[in-house]
Amino acid sequence: MPRRIRPILALLALLAPPFASAAPNAAPSPYAALAATEARVAAIGFRLTTANAAWCPVRQAQMGIIWGDRRLYDEQQWESARAAYETGAFDTSFVAAAAPGSPAGRSGLKKGDAIAWVDFRPLDEGDGSDPFGRIAALERLLAARSADAKIMIGLTDGRTIPLRMVPGCVSDFRVEPKEKPGAVADGRLVLINQGLADFTADDNELAAAIAHELAHNILRHRERLDAVGVDRGLGKQFGRSARLFRQTEIEADRLSVWLLAGADYDPAAAARFWSKFGQRSGRPLFQAGTHPGWRDRVKALEAEAATIAAARAAGQPLRPPLVDAPPPLE
Ligand SMILES: [Zn+2]
Repeated sequence: MPRRIRPILALLALLAPPFASAAPNAAPSPYAALAATEARVAAIGFRLTTANAAWCPVRQAQMGIIWGDRRLYDEQQWESARAAYETGAFDTSFVAAAAPGSPAGRSGLKKGDAIAWVDFRPLDEGDGSDPFGRIAALERLLAARSADAKIMIGLTDGRTIPLRMVPGCVSDFRVEPKEKPGAVADGRLVLINQGLADFTADDNELAAAIAHELAHNILRHRERLDAVGVDRGLGKQFGRSARLFRQTEIEADRLSVWLLAGADYDPAAAARFWSKFGQRSGRPLFQAGTHPGWRDRVKALEAEAATIAAARAAGQPLRPPLVDAPPPLE
């Protein structure tokens, strides 16, 4: 079993001055911090995907869940993780977070509920080689259903939960237990590091970071970059590959501000967040080729927010750029 979680909080406790430390067992479990971030990301991800569904060229069924799984933990970790997720001793996938007001949240599904079956079929166990395999199979199964499909979920405690999913933009969400303030969009998933969530001042700023990654998936950047043969290795920093990566970053920034507005988050949060993010200490120097400079990014984000504010002031409907016909990558 891979060690999924680094004990971030234990490390912080070591670095803190002695008078700040409480009794030895008082440090909160790192899994409790992870579960709290998953609750934030599930809520924000559900709101961004469903409130903006009408703008998205491709839609998938959303139910508002971030999944957990027994396979992500070794024996020792599982004791602590089980306590944080308040779940039972079952080798299966479970609800790590259910967004309030989502189909899952309204149905009564909650953190720790362990899944026995979906639509009376057992979960796809796969070959067990990928700890995330069972979750990925479950996410793919649900995303393939029609955007407002009715499903039945059977829990290990014997309950049967019926719910109807709702249409949203493409993406499932995951929180990675990594301290580095990073995030990734791979076309299907938006992956947010714990360190990035911790870096944000509030949910508007976290929504800005998530909206940027979601925009990459909506605009199919991974697939389209691969289709034109960009270099994801060392050559990424130079020439044509760097230019095309930079184009996708600028596009994701632009669309992200509209996704915030469409979901009633503060569109100005994008400029606030990326300004702080661009000036943080210890940031990598290696993104100069693939990412625009932070001052240019912030200027462009402010311009987009001003366009939205002007449209709202004039009583015009919001029409996001790029989603209908993104410019070709060439
Ligand atoms: Zn990006």
